[in-house]
Amino acid sequence: MPSPHETPAGDSGDSGRPVLLHGLRLIDGTGSAPVPDAALLIEGSVIRWAGPAAQLPVDLGPPTRLDLGGRTVCPGFIDTHVHFALPGPAGNPLQGLLELPSYRTLKVLDRLRVTLENGVTTARDLMGLDAGFRQAVAERRIPGPRLLVSVTMISQRAGHADFTLAGGIDGLAVAVTFPESPRSLVGSVDDMRARVRDLVAAGADCVKLASSGGVTSPHDRPEWLGLRPEMIRAAVEEAQAYGGLPVAAHAIGRPGIEAAVHGGVTSIEHGYALDDELRAEMVARGQYLVPTLLETTQDLDPARTSPSAYEKGVRWHRIAQESVARSASAGVRMAMGTDSGLAVGHGRNLQELGLLVDIAGLTPMEAIVAATGDAARLCGVDEVTGTLVAGRAADLVVTDVDPLSDIASLGESAHILAVVKEGRIAVDRAGVLGDGVLPALCP
Ligand SMILES: [Zn+2]
Repeated sequence: MPSPHETPAGDSGDSGRPVLLHGLRLIDGTGSAPVPDAALLIEGSVIRWAGPAAQLPVDLGPPTRLDLGGRTVCPGFIDTHVHFALPGPAGNPLQGLLELPSYRTLKVLDRLRVTLENGVTTARDLMGLDAGFRQAVAERRIPGPRLLVSVTMISQRAGHADFTLAGGIDGLAVAVTFPESPRSLVGSVDDMRARVRDLVAAGADCVKLASSGGVTSPHDRPEWLGLRPEMIRAAVEEAQAYGGLPVAAHAIGRPGIEAAVHGGVTSIEHGYALDDELRAEMVARGQYLVPTLLETTQDLDPARTSPSAYEKGVRWHRIAQESVARSASAGVRMAMGTDSGLAVGHGRNLQELGLLVDIAGLTPMEAIVAATGDAARLCGVDEVTGTLVAGRAADLVVTDVDPLSDIASLGESAHILAVVKEGRIAVDRAGVLGDGVLPALCP
């Protein structure tokens, strides 16, 4: 099975000569100032050279050239927190109880495609998809962002991963994750160690823990502890022992955040009840915050949520928005994640960029780095993607707006003119990539 941690397969042979994109303004995802008159040389699936056009080495030959007319090119964006198995506002998360796994699988295809076509070339699914989806995307059988999967989410009985319904059915296992995926509930430290190894064997790219209760889960509250600290430490130890997999902790209330931060997780997802003491500890440990602001700005629909989930949502979304700017100014590193699939519809991922500026107070460049270079680092794929520098995958977005003065526009499909993934065209809405110069992603 191809691993997403490897450099994408060099398939330069099938796309003819190298292609030089020029006449572009380059934002490379490292946080460096934009390069006004830049060029980008793509060879097969990777970037061979990127920088000021005037400095292009002559020995790189006369490749096929494509003038982008001064438009801006950013790295393909990375959403570090998505749930492709969930329908967003189009349906109920437990709808899958009434559906065959084959039908649930086919519904995922549109969600992957619309996410990619709106500028997300890498997505981390933090509960739902198994490694088969990743393989199908990597082999270009279906269009979608490069996938990283946690397969499921782990908590204790009655914690955030416990969707056991009144009739005794495991709602998460039947309606959300796919057959043969490891189960979500653990009862002891030994259980946790075994489950993390089950997930490694199932091909997980990261481990998702629920260290606090949640808004949507039926048995708990966000301010409750979802996993005992010794279980979190055991999960982190196993993940580190098995290839250094990142550990992402769903953590909303303070006890769950504290246990996850002390336990050494890689990222705190949501992190609404962070206080200055824990923020300072996250900075010292280099832990990331994935604030999922888009989720917190959705109008909660009392008809679609249980009364307890509605009341929890209203309260915690307000806390989230008040807290995130303090986390940013305390210097906590941020990575972009949206929780798409929960209340947020698929394909709206880049609307998070504007919120990182408006609510968290990041600069537009910081928001871009949180969704490119830093997101790749969090996911452990920064050697593969996230920045437009030589040797990385040719994953990029062409836009007609200046993201540094109008970042919110990246959240609108009309301004994502084209998306290229691994040197192949995923979408070219405005015909800016010429005809047949670059191959199509899924011909
Ligand atoms: Zn989530």
